Amino acid sequence: MPLREIHADVLVVGGGAAGVAAAVGAARRAGTVVLIERYGFLGGLATAAMVGTVCGMYYRDESDQRRRCYGGFPAEFSEMLVTGSETKPVDFGKGLTFLPYRPFVFRMCCDTVIGRAGVALLLGCTAVDVDIHDGKILAVHCLQQQRSITIYPAAVVDCSGDACMTVLAAGRLLPEEPRQAAATVFAIAGIQPIPTESLRFLVIREVKRAARQGTLPPECERLYMIPGLHRNGCAYFKLGLPAPSGDTGHDYTELERCARERIASITACLRRQAAVFADAFVGDVAAQIGIRTGSRPVGCTTVEEDDITNCRKYDDGVAIGVWPMERWDDDGTLTMTYFAENDHYDIRAGALMSADYSNLYFGGRMISASEAAIASARVIGTCLGTGWAAGCLAAAGDDGADTMSSITEQLKPK
Ligand SMILES: Cc1cc2nc3c(=O)[nH]c(=O)nc-3n(C[C@H](O)[C@H](O)[C@H](O)COP(=O)(O)OP(=O)(O)OC[C@H]3O[C@@H](n4cnc5c(N)ncnc54)[C@H](O)[C@@H]3O)c2cc1C
Repeated sequence: MPLREIHADVLVVGGGAAGVAAAVGAARRAGTVVLIERYGFLGGLATAAMVGTVCGMYYRDESDQRRRCYGGFPAEFSEMLVTGSETKPVDFGKGLTFLPYRPFVFRMCCDTVIGRAGVALLLGCTAVDVDIHDGKILAVHCLQQQRSITIYPAAVVDCSGDACMTVLAAGRLLPEEPRQAAATVFAIAGIQPIPTESLRFLVIREVKRAARQGTLPPECERLYMIPGLHRNGCAYFKLGLPAPSGDTGHDYTELERCARERIASITACLRRQAAVFADAFVGDVAAQIGIRTGSRPVGCTTVEEDDITNCRKYDDGVAIGVWPMERWDDDGTLTMTYFAENDHYDIRAGALMSADYSNLYFGGRMISASEAAIASARVIGTCLGTGWAAGCLAAAGDDGADTMSSITEQLKPK
């Protein structure tokens, strides 16, 4: 098997929202930045699971005065997304705002910003092993199209969503807590013209009726229409699924299979029961089911629930979170825990830095945060912020402390 060796100032593992932001942040400060992504496209859950809306970019404000919480890269990226998707911010109630986007546009925006930043991108490239020496990650072994690649990085930013660097290095993970429910996203196309609100009402009514009559499983009632994306006879839906068990691959496989079966049954049922769906078909299905939270590593500090509920600020805060704690339980129940309007909590630099390995940083939905806290910090807007900050810290290395104030300054809304 041919072997390739690459030396990098910063290696970013995982090209989701956080990894893309980390690579761009690092590239503004470091010489060689390499980004590896196991899929053939960027965006992570935002594209592979077709999440469809960016949360966490605006302060919550019930008076409906929309105020951005981030400037800098998160703002630039979300502007590109909205322009490319031809959408606009949507009010969600309780003073929350989010940005609908088209998953393909998200992929394209990632390609653009990574290309512009001069990041060396390796797609279809999976990190499979690490060498540790003296409390540092010395080398990351990868496979790309059955070809071995070894990367020797000065610093690593793990944005894999699942703490893959810490898992491979056998470092410490935060204790497992009950996971949140998963979901699958799909699009139905070929719907006859109908106002969006009427469509939402019709779908809920018909799926409820079919569940009552026993023609659809009761779990199909956990169906939501994704706001802001209904256009030209095509609408996107999110269907709730149970949480995967984690220990065996079996449940995950079963969930993926079951998700497809339910999507097909719901679409067939709507075709039978509602005239506007007479010619409808499954237009698109996310490449993978969306699993909200995974393993998270032990950081130098950990974001806790009371940091969020009390909107705590810290001198070493490098990113912020504004979204409430949004918890989806296995039975489909959604619990939103709100904190003060027009306020935020700080995410400390230590939550983005490994307690075990001195050159390992974290971004996105796998920062060091409790299960309750990540229910807020996992949203895409916050992932763009923590990813970017982690990339900057990794590029600064030992000068990280001096860099903190410039990171927060650059992330402030202008
Ligand atoms: C069902 C569902 C609904 C959601 N709804 C919303 C919403 O409406 N709004 C919102 O803002 N957020 C939402 N979220 C949350 C949000 O989508 C994610 O938390 C966020 O996108 C995570 O970004 P990330 O970059 O941290 O991780 P991910 O998107 O998980 O990216 C990790 C990347 O790392 C790659 N990777 C993993 N392991 C390796 C490896 N060994 N080698 C190379 N690459 C690797 C993966 O392929 C992936 O691309 C939702 C999540 C789910 C599951």
